[in-house]
Amino acid sequence: MLDSTTIVIFLGIGYLFTFIVMSAYWHDLIKALPVRTFFVAKLLQSISWFCAVLRGDISDFLSITVANSFMFIGASLEIISLLHLRNEWHAAFRKIYLSFLLLSIVGFQLLLHQNEDIRIAYCSIILVFLLAPVYRLIKGPSSLMKVIGYIYLFVIAANIFRGVTALFTDISASFYTPGIYQLFYLLTIYLLTILSIMGFLLMWKEKINQDLIRYASYDDLTGTLNRRTFTEHAKDFLTRSAKKREAVSYLLFDIDSFKDINDTYGHHIGDLVLKDVTNRIKQQLGENDLFVRYGGDEFGILLPGKNEAQSNELAERIKKLLETVPSSLPVTYTISIGVLTVVPDQHTHLESMYTRCDQALYTAKRNGRNSIFRSQAG
Ligand code: GH3
Ligand code: MG
Repeated sequence: MLDSTTIVIFLGIGYLFTFIVMSAYWHDLIKALPVRTFFVAKLLQSISWFCAVLRGDISDFLSITVANSFMFIGASLEIISLLHLRNEWHAAFRKIYLSFLLLSIVGFQLLLHQNEDIRIAYCSIILVFLLAPVYRLIKGPSSLMKVIGYIYLFVIAANIFRGVTALFTDISASFYTPGIYQLFYLLTIYLLTILSIMGFLLMWKEKINQDLIRYASYDDLTGTLNRRTFTEHAKDFLTRSAKKREAVSYLLFDIDSFKDINDTYGHHIGDLVLKDVTNRIKQQLGENDLFVRYGGDEFGILLPGKNEAQSNELAERIKKLLETVPSSLPVTYTISIGVLTVVPDQHTHLESMYTRCDQALYTAKRNGRNSIFRSQAG
């Protein structure tokens, strides 16, 4: 049978080396509050295990009261960091988990003089509080989150099983009694300590990657797609529409005399105009429509499935909408729009659609601005 002291010492060593490896990019990671919270949680849990394993050699206060309180605080912090990771650390959860923390510490103190089986049952079954964040992980968007969620679920189930065993059977579920239960229990501790650290770091890295992809895909001022991402998606849409032989419309617009707005009201107001125009137009678009800021005050909209009449109607609606004074701005502004509709085939290129639409936009400008001009098919 395995010796529990040795295992916990190995866990401590594993933990220490995880920290050493992590220190390589520690500075970047540790700035994030959920990561800090998670590592404090693991630190407290590790101290707790060391105190528990030294039972008999150190005072009962340290090996029971301090060990268990640290374990509860560690579990609460772990829950908090997992919920942070899923962006779900709401006020309601805050209340629930603060109560969990108080209840678990106070409850354990009240049970201090009860026999060990009752204490074991209490500490094991209280882990059901972990079910909420674990459920969030299992329902999470990535397979990584799901796998880690299931590992947590296994650990919780094993602990509940241990708690029930302690309460209702004569088998010793004690951490200190060698046997199959001890082995099983140590395995769950191992999973919780080492795998949860690796899992958390991987999930955090995954989140950072997703954030980076988001930053790299959108224009930061207006939140519209940037040119590169738009081009990627637009090409996919064109291919799909070509297969379905359905119409695709394309709008290119540019704010009229935008330089004058900057010169008269300042660059900041110019920025607000750019945000205002995109916010108002976004509300008119469907979920498949692609909205891009090409740069400066020039934007494009790809409308898969929209024919000539539908794109004319949209362009007119946008033009009318912008003629009303935006309440938050000291200035009104107008736009000129070039419109093009094609039924794409495999020879249709986004670049040539852009060129034709740009010519239509140029004509709209020449026609006196605040106007729409359609590029004729051909
Ligand atoms: P036109 O009606 O012919 O379009 O005239 P215009 O004055 O709008 O001319 P143009 O479209 O060429 O002007 C673009 C201006 O947009 C020039 C540049 O100073 C300004 N600009 C580009 N990017 C930004 C930005 O991010 N914020 C602000 N405030 N201005 C920008
Ligand atoms: Mg302009």
